[in-house]
Amino acid sequence: MKNVYFFGDGKAEGDGGQKDLLGGKGANLAEMTNLGLPVPPGFTLTTDVCTYFMDKHKLPSNLNDEINASMKKIEGIMGKNFGDTKNPLLVSVRSGARESMPGMMETVLNVGLTERTVAGLASSSLNSRFAYDSYRRLIMMYADVVMEKSGDAQVENNVGVRHKLENFMDEYKNNRGCSKDTDLSAEDLRALCGEFKNIIKKTLDMEFPDDPNVQLESAIRAVFNSWNGARAQSYRKIENISDRAGTAVNIQSMVFGNMGTGSATGVAFTRNPSTGENVFYGEWLENAQGEDVVAGIRTPNPLNRESRSPQSKNLQSLEEQYPSLYKELFTIKNNLELHYRDMQDIEFTIENKRLWMLQTRNGKRNGSSAIKIAFDLQDSNVISEKEVLNRISSQHLNEIMLPTIDGDEEKKEPVITRGLPAGPGGASGQIVFTADDAQRWHSEGKSVILVRQETSPEDVHGMYAANGILTSRGGMTSHAALVARGWGKCCIVGCSDLVIDPLGKTLRINDSIYREGDWLSLNGSLGHVYGNRLSLITNNMRGDPLFEKIMNLADKHMKLGVRANADTQKDAENARQLGAKGIGLCRTEHMFFSPDRILSMRKMILASNLEDRQSALDELLPYQQKDFYGILRAMAPYPVTIRLLDPPLHEFLPQTEEQIEELANELNVGIEKINQIVEDLHETNPMLGHRGCRLGITYPEITRMQARAIFSASAQLLEEGIKPFPEIMIPLIGTAEEFINQRDVVVSVYKEMDVDVEHKIGTMIEIPRACLVAEQIAEHADFFSFGTNDLTQTTFGYSRDDVGGFLYDYLNQSILPCDPFESIDVNGVGRLVEMAVRAGRDKNPELKIGVCGEHGGDPKSIRFFNSAGLDYVSCSPYRVPIARLSSAHCNK
Ligand code: PEP
Ligand code: MG
Repeated sequence: MKNVYFFGDGKAEGDGGQKDLLGGKGANLAEMTNLGLPVPPGFTLTTDVCTYFMDKHKLPSNLNDEINASMKKIEGIMGKNFGDTKNPLLVSVRSGARESMPGMMETVLNVGLTERTVAGLASSSLNSRFAYDSYRRLIMMYADVVMEKSGDAQVENNVGVRHKLENFMDEYKNNRGCSKDTDLSAEDLRALCGEFKNIIKKTLDMEFPDDPNVQLESAIRAVFNSWNGARAQSYRKIENISDRAGTAVNIQSMVFGNMGTGSATGVAFTRNPSTGENVFYGEWLENAQGEDVVAGIRTPNPLNRESRSPQSKNLQSLEEQYPSLYKELFTIKNNLELHYRDMQDIEFTIENKRLWMLQTRNGKRNGSSAIKIAFDLQDSNVISEKEVLNRISSQHLNEIMLPTIDGDEEKKEPVITRGLPAGPGGASGQIVFTADDAQRWHSEGKSVILVRQETSPEDVHGMYAANGILTSRGGMTSHAALVARGWGKCCIVGCSDLVIDPLGKTLRINDSIYREGDWLSLNGSLGHVYGNRLSLITNNMRGDPLFEKIMNLADKHMKLGVRANADTQKDAENARQLGAKGIGLCRTEHMFFSPDRILSMRKMILASNLEDRQSALDELLPYQQKDFYGILRAMAPYPVTIRLLDPPLHEFLPQTEEQIEELANELNVGIEKINQIVEDLHETNPMLGHRGCRLGITYPEITRMQARAIFSASAQLLEEGIKPFPEIMIPLIGTAEEFINQRDVVVSVYKEMDVDVEHKIGTMIEIPRACLVAEQIAEHADFFSFGTNDLTQTTFGYSRDDVGGFLYDYLNQSILPCDPFESIDVNGVGRLVEMAVRAGRDKNPELKIGVCGEHGGDPKSIRFFNSAGLDYVSCSPYRVPIARLSSAHCNK
């Protein structure tokens, strides 16, 4: 096995395509070398070495020979030897994973300095201040990264050795009356190095090694070990990076930006990453090493006029101070951007007026600049139309559509608790504990966060009024999550640290009490809760020409159709504006909760005979007809999938004494009687109880009323010259007989009505048995729509409303890779989907197949649905643009 890949002097053993083996940084160093750019020579230990080291707890036996051979090559190019006491070569040892993990792993600079070589560096550079400054940096970094973090050293009272050394240095500067590091003399720094070693010995009970080879080998081990550091692990979890990937290690000749005037270090972007504007943008610091720019101790100078900030407006730019170096850098940035065909984030060092390139990588950017950069590159014929789409991620799009918490404020604010990120974006508001209060406060012009244990359909008005929703219970498909996502509203659910006292109107989070009116802020994209008022930034791009441009391009390349889940005319209109080509799920039950209908609904449920039930249904019919008319009209001529009544009836029952009394009066019966019926209807496990098609089978008059409403509304539209396209969907089918039963009811209504409405009758596939007998169902159905919320619930046996109780632990302990209610479980639920698609299409090649569970708006799941052969996805209206883009991303 080849462990080491050399680069230097215009030639590299690797290249930019080998990111998996050499890591991002190593591959790009090789690529830049091959391009003839001034890259300090060095070599990369592959990610395979890291995997070997993790598995076997030792380095490969031939590694040392390969390292020595490469070190010889560096020495030859640089004309310096490692460990030489007259003109020593120093190296940096840096991590470099396949995917960038900024700041998550370790780096050691100036490796090779010892008591003897530091004297050599002082005389060869004719700059002893520089030599001892480099030495104290090595001691600090090495003690921290190699001796403490990578070793078994115990950190006392959380005060690490680096902190102690920094404190000592600050005191030392104070005692000498120095305000900046650069005020310290060579003698000061030399004395500091001695003191540092004493502190290290006392703190860690180990000597700082005075041997270059020991330093090199230990630094390599430490960087490999940092792959498994706590920071890196949690970053990988968040970013979904495999723990097995491993990091490469880059060992490279040091070049020095801290050799005095004429030496400098800097970072730059080939375009402005905040605006996407095509201007070279960056900062630099004279007489400094890379860490100084990042550490923020000194205000860096601007690279050029375009990079000036209010803080740096009076500082000299590189362009002014060293015009020819700036010109050289400018040419390199143009070449790099053309070569990589994307905006680059680069690091450089100037050593005695000689420019060296240390790194290049694709620069991170925000949503709006990602779109601008991609189209600008296309306009300059650098990338193709399809590449434009691939440069814009669903997160980029999400970001530009929602208000978010101001990133600078958020960075400074501690997270007080975490929950599941159910509705994206940010919200800041005063807390209230009831839906009515949310509505009232909102009407008084206040921003509110509605805090509930969980929400129910009765809370919808308050949820609508609230800027954000926070619940202590529930999972990603709980009521609060579904509703919030549908509206594009910020929402965090299943936040189990919340102790809510709705009567006392207080909320306890750990040791802090929050009362009604106190401010909280939510980051619904991460599930973070903050105990303060934070500012929001609105990035709404709807109507923006660039947004329209990207959406049109997505539509041109999309593989799967995109529909929306919408239950009202307003939602349907909104969905259409956002580009939905149809409704994939209209949940009719949501229509029964408004105050003018709920009473009729309750009368229907409580009816003890067919006649009473029919008369309640007759009251509901005109409402339903009006609803369907509006929705079908808003979407015509696109299809509207209307699902027959689905939820357990008890969801509609009166809850409060007031509601029971109102119903008793209306029905002219005693309160006792109502209570009795409510009790009789109680189910231990309503989600698996009397719901879905089971309702229509026991009460066919409900199905009849709904079918009649759909066909009447359609006939009315046809008369008006509008062509509606209803698709009637029967929920929770598990057997072909259930489907046939309900289909026949719908067909009989259609025949009775003697109308001519183009329509389809199909089913939801949302319980495993339906997947297993898909062939039998497909024989009778026009379409399938996967209800992946229930299918996930019934396949895993996890209650979708209670999953919050253990999901956090499952994710934390890697028992599940992600929330299966958010992103489809490809290996389990996904297998059932594939099986049902195959069997369904075998029997009925015309079968139209879609998905209408929450997964329909999740980019990763959309990729899966495309590969499974679905025709369309359906999601909340606000997810429609993201689904359109994701659908285009499937077109490789
Ligand atoms: C589903 O189960 O995936 C679905 C869309 O239906 P509901 O969420 O209304 O149960
Ligand atoms: Mg369902």
